[in-house]
Amino acid sequence: MAISDPSLFDAFAACGATAAGGVHRPCASAADGAARDVLEAALNAAGAQTRTDAVGNQFGLFRLAEAPDAPLVMMGSHLDSQPNGGRFDGALGVAAAVHVGAALMRLKREGARFSADFCAVNWTNEEGARFRPSLLGSGVYVGRHTADEALAALDDDGVTLRDALSAIGRNGGDQAPPLPACYLELHVEQGVTLEQAGVAVGVVTRNWGATKFDVTYKGEQAHTGPCPMGLRRDALLAASHLIVEARAIADRWPGKVHSSVGRLVVAPNSANVVPCETRLSLEIRSNDDGVLAEASALADAAIATAAERAAVEVASVVRNERAIRPMPAAVSDLVEASAAALGAPSLRLDTVAGHDAISLLGHCPTGLVFVPSAGGIAHNEAEFTAPKDVETGFSVCLEAAARLCRAAGSPERALDQQGLAA
Ligand SMILES: [Zn+2]
Repeated sequence: MAISDPSLFDAFAACGATAAGGVHRPCASAADGAARDVLEAALNAAGAQTRTDAVGNQFGLFRLAEAPDAPLVMMGSHLDSQPNGGRFDGALGVAAAVHVGAALMRLKREGARFSADFCAVNWTNEEGARFRPSLLGSGVYVGRHTADEALAALDDDGVTLRDALSAIGRNGGDQAPPLPACYLELHVEQGVTLEQAGVAVGVVTRNWGATKFDVTYKGEQAHTGPCPMGLRRDALLAASHLIVEARAIADRWPGKVHSSVGRLVVAPNSANVVPCETRLSLEIRSNDDGVLAEASALADAAIATAAERAAVEVASVVRNERAIRPMPAAVSDLVEASAAALGAPSLRLDTVAGHDAISLLGHCPTGLVFVPSAGGIAHNEAEFTAPKDVETGFSVCLEAAARLCRAAGSPERALDQQGLAA
């Protein structure tokens, strides 16, 4: 089935578009507000009822079933981006969800019968870029955070998520829909596995684990000239020791551990001043529970050692620990069968990155579908997925969602359903 409305994805990409072909669309910015308006208009035009909950999650409910309390099949992703990020990350999955909802609605009008309703969703602050932690909106939806906790999150300018959403008119008063019978998400791989295999569809069967630390080093502000080296308590030197050691930890387990310091705030950040404070975000990711525990313990020790070497104080908290978990086999099997029914080869793989689907994992049957990222480029303006791969991904999701909506949302029963091609 051809993509009926490729313009929706392009319309998202125009919101916060950068000259180099990417998007700069921080959560609850004016650009995010514009993308949300585009989404709401598209959902309304496709026949959905729209709702926005207290943390700005946007839902579009497509009433497909006859029963008023029919189970729900949900699909979505996020419209926020990293600073100068790519236009595919997140927005592609939201566009896919609207495409699927609109197509199912058309099928219903043409006489198809469904036993589940469909819901498209845009989760607030998936990226964790403007507000931390990441996966915030989906985390509230599954009860991992309260709405008040999420709304109190601060950006680097001290603006709360509550005020930022209010500024774009998106702190809604609607109740979020109940947990779905099954959740699906289409996302770009952000790696090279699919491209190297020459396969358009990735069926995610497991997520990598992660340990994320927030670290603050406190030294003493001094003149970079006269202050004797032996008396300096340089908070940036401590951060530097840690940054180098974080890389060394990953290099002990090639291919099994990824590490980075992605965020560093230096105070007072002045050319002639020895920094008195640094705040940084360190993350360790792995595909092996034992290795993750060992590497995280090494990172914890390295945080303290770096402070000692620079003679500064340190405070560190583990902000987020993500366990390695399998995705439900029934949903993976359904996605694989849906791809096969369309003649599209698929491949099973891990996700190294976190996604909203990982937020919902354990709360309802959850599936994550990848399409290739050219060169594995991600969180970068050059991010690209070929149109034919996008089309395949959309079609596979529509096939899987149609089967689910005929099977009251049950992935086990959906496996036995006839597909759209039948
Ligand atoms: Zn994403």
